[in-house]
Amino acid sequence: MCGVFGIYNNSKAAQLTYYALYALQHRGQESAGIISSNEGKFHHHKGLGLVADVFKEEQIASLEGKAAIGHVRYSTTGANSLQNAQPLFFKYQGGNLALAHNGNLVNAHQLRSHLERQGSIFQTTSDTEVAAHLIARAGYENSEQSVKESLGMIKGSYAMLFLADNKLIAVRDPNGIRPLSLGKLNGSFVVSSETCAFDTIGATFLRDVEPGEMIIIDQDGIRSERVSSYPTQATCVFEYIYFARPDSDIEGLNVHTVRKQLGKRLAQEAPIEADVVTGVPDSSISAAIGYAEEANIPYELGLIKNRYIGRTFIQPSQELRERGVRLKLNAVRKVVAGKRVVMIDDSIVRGTTSGRIVSMLREAGATEVHVRISSPPVTHPCYYGIDTSAKEELIASSKSIEEIREHIGADTLAYLSTEGMLDTFKDRLGAISEATQCCGYCEGCFSGSYPTEIIEQDKHSLER
Ligand code: 5GP
Ligand code: MG
Repeated sequence: MCGVFGIYNNSKAAQLTYYALYALQHRGQESAGIISSNEGKFHHHKGLGLVADVFKEEQIASLEGKAAIGHVRYSTTGANSLQNAQPLFFKYQGGNLALAHNGNLVNAHQLRSHLERQGSIFQTTSDTEVAAHLIARAGYENSEQSVKESLGMIKGSYAMLFLADNKLIAVRDPNGIRPLSLGKLNGSFVVSSETCAFDTIGATFLRDVEPGEMIIIDQDGIRSERVSSYPTQATCVFEYIYFARPDSDIEGLNVHTVRKQLGKRLAQEAPIEADVVTGVPDSSISAAIGYAEEANIPYELGLIKNRYIGRTFIQPSQELRERGVRLKLNAVRKVVAGKRVVMIDDSIVRGTTSGRIVSMLREAGATEVHVRISSPPVTHPCYYGIDTSAKEELIASSKSIEEIREHIGADTLAYLSTEGMLDTFKDRLGAISEATQCCGYCEGCFSGSYPTEIIEQDKHSLER
């Protein structure tokens, strides 16, 4: 997972990109970077860690120019190293080109072997560099043409931004797996993984980039071209379930509203007698509110998360953990003691989180803990950039729901049905779907059926 942002024709390009990356921080905490272009002279700065750690005021000031792209990274393919931090930058016969990618290419391994056999030298282990090589080899002086041709060879998920000498190019894969939206800020165009970044910088949302669409932004304004003639929409449902920020809209649907609706449906499918409903912060709060509303059980803040724990924080040792060192999450004793608690979470992946929370709630005095999950069991790996890992690590790929219940120590456990999940999208889409012909979702992690071919050679490297 990652977040991308781009801006064209704004004298504060780098500064606005910095604020936008701040808004997209939840999409990746491992590295951050910005490349700006000042009439063809490129400036870049990137580093490991959070946006706030990587950029200081003087660095932003040095990123001159009226166009910029930025990236926050959550490594899925390729190790977490500075070399793999994006945006990537290269020079080729067509000029300068910077590139920022959210997604995962599912034939990168295959393409890379092929390119290496032909003499290409790679500087990173990231799948994104493959796209750069293909562009450089395409041989057109026009960056647009090169981008278009190389995209024809790559498979998988990509919301990609390219900054060339005199234009910004934004593309979305033919299935529209990862989100990408277009906005406007006075005289400039902006492109972002999520709309929450538009709100942050005061930009207006225009529309989503369409699956298989390439948008070219330059001096003359904006143009659209198709990179794929038969797009089939398959937007990732996990963006709505877990990944995106609740204040973002994806394909016309507000993320919080979808989550709340999933929680309501869950309450219809799996009701239980209880005293309070609580959600695991932050991602399942919306679903918990929906569940509580539908079940007519009070919603309470039974669990509190420490906001200042980043991904780099030092994990407590086993000994400290056993002594109850709760740095990340704590139960609110007065809320749950003596109560029958419904605990809502958005997903169970490996099954460790839920188990810990159930015992935390019991230690705080809950008399019963009923776990309700606002998505179906995750039974298959994601090859498109969600970090859910190899099949063997997914608890629901080998255990029944009753076995998982036992594993996490809950009194009862229920998941939302796949039908319930998809109905929620269908209901809410209603009128929208006809206008935009948007109605397809990728739910490969729940069903094992994927919208693209996945090259065998690549499977292994994607399931690290
Ligand atoms: P588990 O311990 O079952 O692997 O973790 C499930 C928890 O992780 C849920 O609370 C869910 O919100 C969160 N989660 C789901 N998907 C992801 C992901 O791709 N990355 C991270 N860091 N957390 C996730
Ligand atoms: Mg969670």
